[in-house]
Amino acid sequence: MPSDLVIVYHRQPYEEVEDEDGRVKLKENTSPNGIVPTLKSFFGSVDHGAWVAWKLAEDTSNPGFEQVVEIEDSYGKYSVSRLPLSAEQVKQFYHVTSKEAFWPILHAFKERYNYDPVDWPNFREVNWRFAEAAAAEAAKGALVWVHDYNLWLVPGYLRKLRPDLRIAFFHHTPFPSADMFNVLPWRKEIVESLLACDVVGFHIPRYAANFVSVARSLTEVEVVDRVRVSDDLISEGTALTERTVPTTLKYSDRVVTVSVAPVGVNVDYIEERATLSSTQDKAKNIRAELGDVKLLLSVGRTDYTKGGVEQLESVERILERRPDLRGRVRLMHVSVPANRNMTVYAQIQAEIEETAGRINGRFGSLEWQPITLISRAIPFDELVAYYRAADVAWITPLADGMNLVAKEFVASRVDGDGVLVLSEFAGAAVELSSAVIANPFSNRSMDEAILAAIGMEEAERRARMAPLREAVQRYDIRAWGRSVNDGFEAIGQDRPAA
Ligand code: UDP
Repeated sequence: MPSDLVIVYHRQPYEEVEDEDGRVKLKENTSPNGIVPTLKSFFGSVDHGAWVAWKLAEDTSNPGFEQVVEIEDSYGKYSVSRLPLSAEQVKQFYHVTSKEAFWPILHAFKERYNYDPVDWPNFREVNWRFAEAAAAEAAKGALVWVHDYNLWLVPGYLRKLRPDLRIAFFHHTPFPSADMFNVLPWRKEIVESLLACDVVGFHIPRYAANFVSVARSLTEVEVVDRVRVSDDLISEGTALTERTVPTTLKYSDRVVTVSVAPVGVNVDYIEERATLSSTQDKAKNIRAELGDVKLLLSVGRTDYTKGGVEQLESVERILERRPDLRGRVRLMHVSVPANRNMTVYAQIQAEIEETAGRINGRFGSLEWQPITLISRAIPFDELVAYYRAADVAWITPLADGMNLVAKEFVASRVDGDGVLVLSEFAGAAVELSSAVIANPFSNRSMDEAILAAIGMEEAERRARMAPLREAVQRYDIRAWGRSVNDGFEAIGQDRPAA
C-alpha cells in the first residue's frame, strides 16, 4: 500500500527476539522513550506509513527473504521495508564509512578519521538501495523523512527517482564547521544530496549555521532568510551558542528550509516512571546503601566522544587534591559498549577499565571504592531510580549532538533537587544554561565544576533545577514533534513563483 509518510532510518523499528524454538519474533520496543518510538508516533497522523531499514542477510539474493513486512503495534499499522545487506556490506557501510570516517569528523576528531579503508562505491550502492526502497513505498507527493549521516546520499538519489516527493532530513549528530567537514573527500556529493531536500533539520542553531557555511564553501547557495535565535537556545558565553541562524536557502531553482528542533525526552513518561513506588523504593535503597557518601552518576555509550577517560582522570585529580573527599564520594560510571567488534571502541573500553582500576587501586579500601564501573546497559526503569538517587549527574562529552541522558536526569528529578554538570559541547547545553557548565578540554574547568556540584547547598541546587526542568519540559518530545511537523507543513509554501 502506498504510504503518505516514509521514514528512512538505518535501524528497524522493533526488536528482533528469538523464541524458544529459535524463531525470530518482532517485538515492540518496551519503552516509549527513545528515538525509534518517537519517530513511529508520526505514523499516527497519516493514513498509512512505511519505514525503511537494513537487515543482515546471509544470502542477499535469497528469493525467500521477506523484504516488506506489515506491522501492527500500538502505533498503528505500517509497512517495514528491510534491505538485505551482507555482513561485508554492513561492515563497509556502517562500521567503516559511517563510524571510522564520518563519525570522527562530525565530532571534530580529525586525528581519528580513517579514510583509507572506505569503499565509497559500496556506500553509494547501499544509499541508492535505501532510496529505491523509499521510492517504492511512497505515494504520490508523499513525505520521505531521512535520518542521519549514514544515509546522506539518499535525498539526492530520491529526488532523481521521484521528483514529486517532499523530502526532509534530520541530523541527530553535531554538524561541524567547513574546516572540519571539508576533510571528507566526498564533501560536495554529500552536500549536494542534502540540498536536494525540502527541509534539512538539526538540533541546535550552531549545527544549522555550520551546514550552511559548508554548503556555501562548496557550491552556489544563497541565504534568503536568517532569524535571531530564540532566548531559550542562548546560553551566554558557552561554546555552542549562536545568535542568528539561516532558515531559508536558494539552491539552483529550489528553496531549501534549514530547521532547528532540539530533540527532547518524553517528560510525562519519565515523570510517571520516576514517581512509581517501585522506583522510589529502589532509589531509597540505593541511598541507604550509600550512607553519607555523595553519588556522582555518569551514563553514556563507550565512545571517545563521550569523554569517559577525561572524567575518570578528573576524579583522580580531585581525590589527590582533596583528601577529605576520600570515602565521601562515589562515581557510578555507566559506559555501554555499542559496537563491540570495533577496535577503536574496544580500546576506549580498555582505557576506561584501566583508569578506573588504577584509581580504585590508589584510593580504594575494603569499605569504599571511588569508582563503580558498569559496562552493560541498565534497563531504563532502573536508570531512572539511579537518576533519582544521584546527588550529581556528571555529563561531560567532548562532543555530542544533543545528549538525552542529561534531559532524562532533569525530567526524573520530580523532587526538584540534584545537580547537573554538563559539558558545553553537548547540544543540550544551549537549552540547559542553569546546569553547572564544564569544558571537558580543561582539567581546571572539569575539576572546579564537579567540586562545585559536590559542595553545592540545597537552595542553589533547587534554584538551578527549577529552570532546568522548565527547559526540559518546554522542548519535550511532543514539542519536537510539533516543531518538525510545522516544518513539513510549510514545504512548498514559500516557493518563488515559477
Ligand atoms: N541508556 C539506557 N541504559 C543505559 C545507558 C543509556 O537506557 O545503561 C539510554 C539513555 O536512557 C538514553 C540513551 O541510552 O535514552 C542515550 O542517549 P544519548 O542521547 O544520551 O546518547 P547517544 O547514545 O544517543 O549518543
